[in-house]
Amino acid sequence: MVQLSDSITALDGVGPKREAAFNALNIFTIEDLVSYYPYRYDDLGARLPSETLDGEKATFKGVVSAPPVLSRYGYKKTRLLFRLLVEHDNIGVSFFNQPWLAKQIDIGQEVAVYGTYDRNRQTLNGIKMISASTDELAPIYPASKQINAKTIRHLIEVAWADVREHIPSLVPQPIRKKYHLLTRQKQIEEMHFPKDADWAKAARRSAAFEEFYLFQMRLQLLKIADQQFSGESIDYDVVALKAFTQKLPFTLTAAQQKVSREILQDQKRPIHMNRLLQGDVGSGKTIVAALAMYAVVTAGRQAAMMAPTEILARQHAINLANLFEQVGLSVRVELLTSGMRVAARRHLLEDLVNGDIDILVGTHALLQPDVLFHHLSLAVIDEQHRFGVSQRAKLRENGMNPDILAMTATPIPRTLSITAYGEMDVSIIDQLPNGRKPIETKRLSHNQLDQAIAFVKEQVASGAQAYIVTPLIEESEALDVQNAQAMYESLQLSLPQFKIGLLHGRLSNDEKAEMMANFQKNTLQILVATTVIEVGVDVPNATVMVILDADRFGLAQLHQLRGRVGRGKRQSYTILVADPKTDYGQQRLDAMVATTDGFVLAQKDLELRGPGDILGVKQSGVPEFMVGDPIKDLTMMEIAQQEAIATVDTPKWDAQMDNQALVDYLSRTMANYRYFD
Ligand code: ADP
Ligand code: MG
Repeated sequence: MVQLSDSITALDGVGPKREAAFNALNIFTIEDLVSYYPYRYDDLGARLPSETLDGEKATFKGVVSAPPVLSRYGYKKTRLLFRLLVEHDNIGVSFFNQPWLAKQIDIGQEVAVYGTYDRNRQTLNGIKMISASTDELAPIYPASKQINAKTIRHLIEVAWADVREHIPSLVPQPIRKKYHLLTRQKQIEEMHFPKDADWAKAARRSAAFEEFYLFQMRLQLLKIADQQFSGESIDYDVVALKAFTQKLPFTLTAAQQKVSREILQDQKRPIHMNRLLQGDVGSGKTIVAALAMYAVVTAGRQAAMMAPTEILARQHAINLANLFEQVGLSVRVELLTSGMRVAARRHLLEDLVNGDIDILVGTHALLQPDVLFHHLSLAVIDEQHRFGVSQRAKLRENGMNPDILAMTATPIPRTLSITAYGEMDVSIIDQLPNGRKPIETKRLSHNQLDQAIAFVKEQVASGAQAYIVTPLIEESEALDVQNAQAMYESLQLSLPQFKIGLLHGRLSNDEKAEMMANFQKNTLQILVATTVIEVGVDVPNATVMVILDADRFGLAQLHQLRGRVGRGKRQSYTILVADPKTDYGQQRLDAMVATTDGFVLAQKDLELRGPGDILGVKQSGVPEFMVGDPIKDLTMMEIAQQEAIATVDTPKWDAQMDNQALVDYLSRTMANYRYFD
C-alpha cells in the first residue's frame, strides 16, 4: 500500500530511471502523481458521421450491413473490411492487421467501432472495436521522451487503488458548496476515470478552482507573513510634504495625488508596505517615488532607489538631487555605482551607515552585503519587471526590512496583474500629465529611410532632439554594435551640422554616463543607440524616436522605446522603419500605430502571442498552471482570490479541524515559508 506522501519510488516498477523521468515532469510524490491530470480526452462516445469532421477520431455505433471480408497482402498484412449502417449512413469500415476481429463480426450484428473518419470516402479507419460501454473517454496525458503516457496512466491506476479512500479535500467545504465543486476525491477520480464528458468537465472545473485557490492562498499567506515580519510606522512631517508638493515645478495629476495618498497611508500604518505602482511610460511615477522617499527623510530615516541599469540609476540620482535643490530642501542624495574607486566607495558607505546620506540610488549593486544603512525605511524598485524575484530576500539578508515600493510601466495587461502581483497591493496611475500631446506614430519601409532622416533633420533644426535606435540582433551584441556604428558614421556624413552621439552596450559605464549627460544637456542633438536606451530614460526635449527594423522588437519593448519621447510639451513622433516579413510582425506594427495606451498594447500583445505562448507569459512574470488558464478563466481566478482572502480573514482559520488538510498541504508545498513557523 502506498500513501499520498510517499515518494513515487514506493511504486513497483519505479526505479531511479523512471524516478528521474517523473521528477522532470515535477512529479515527486504519490500525491503529485495522482494529481497529474490528463490534458484532454479522446471521446469514445458514439457519434453520427454527419457530425464528425474529416480526419477526426470518433466512435460509430450501428448494424453490420454487409458480411466482413478479410484479405491478406504483403508479408503477414491483413485488411478486414465491412459495412456499417449508422442511422442513415452506410459507411465502410476497415481494420488493418487485426485478423481475429473477423470472427467477432457478423451481418446484422450491432457493434461500435472507434477510428479515424474519412469524410470524403465515408470510411472509418478502425482503431478498436468497442464492446462494453460506448460512453467511454480516453484520457490523454502529457508525456515525455523518457516516460510514455501509457506507463504514466498505468502507474496512476495502481497508485489510485491504494490511496483513493484517503483523499481529504483542500478547498473548504463551504466554498465547494457555494460554487458546486466536487470533493478532491471525486475530482481526481473523474479526472482520470471520467464516467462521461459532463463529469470530466465538472472535475476539470473543480481542479482548476483548486489550483487557483491554493495559489491565491499562498499569496495571501506570503502577504501575512510579510506583514508580521516587521513593519514600522513612519512618522513623517505632513507640513513639510505639503510644502514640497506646492513647490514642485508642476502640479501633480489627480492620479498621482491618489496613489501618493495610498502610499503615504501605508507608510503611516505599522505594517510592512509591499506596493506595486503601475503607470504607463511617462505617467510620472518618479515624482511619486520622490515624495514617498522624502516622507521617510522627514522622519529621520533613509530611502534607497534601485534601477535596472546604471544609466537610469544615474539619471534618477541627478534628477532627485536637482529636484530637492530646486525646492530648497537639503536632502542628501548619493549614487552608488559598480565602478567607484575603493576610497570613494568606502567614504560613501561610512556616511551611509552613519545616517549622513538620506537617499541612496543605484543598481542591484545596492544589494551587496557591505552596503549597510543607518536606518533604511523605504526601498523603491524602479522598472520592477526587470529584476528577479529575490531582491527583497536579499535586502533582508542585510538585516533590513524596508517598505517596498515597486514601480512598473505595465508590461502586463490589467487582466493578468492579479495573478502576477497577487501578493502586492497595487496603485495605478491611469492618466498622463496635462498638456501631453499623444505621440504620433508613423510607419516607413526601409527604402524610405531618407524621409525619416529628413524629418529628424527638420525637428532637430527647430531645437528638438532625436533618438535613432538600431536593430536588435538577437544573440549578437557584436552585430548590434556594428549596426549602430554604421548608422552613426553615415549620419555624421549626412548631417554634419549636428552633434551626434553613439551609445551601446560595449561602452564603459562612465562613457555611457557621459554620453547621456551630454544628450541631457543638449550638447548632443542626436543619439544613435542600441536598446541600452530602452527603459526609463527621461529627456523631455527629445521629440523624435526612429526605430530601425522595428519588427524585430516585441510590443512591450516598442512601447518602452516610444515612451522615451512625448515627455514634454512639444508634439512628439515615433517612426517605425520596417519591412515586416511575418503577419505577426505586421500586426505588432499596426498595433503600435493604432494606440499609445500601454494597457491596450499589453492586452493586444497577449492576444497576438496567444495564451499558448508560454515563453511570452513567462517573461511577463505570470506563473504557469497545470489545469486552469489564468487568461481564459480570469473570473474564476478572481473568485479564488476573493475566497482566499475571506479564508485568511477568518479568525483561527488555520486551527479549524476542517482546514487541517489544507494547512498541511500548504505547509508541505511551500518551502522556506514562514507563515506556519
Ligand atoms: P515614468 O512614469 O515613465 O517613470 P517619469 O516619472 O520619468 O515617468 O516622468 C516623465 C516626465 O513627466 C518627467 O519629465 C517628469 O518630470 C514629468 N512629470 C511628472 N509628473 C508631471 C506632472 N504632474 N505634470 C507635468 N509633468 C510631469
Ligand atoms: Mg520611470
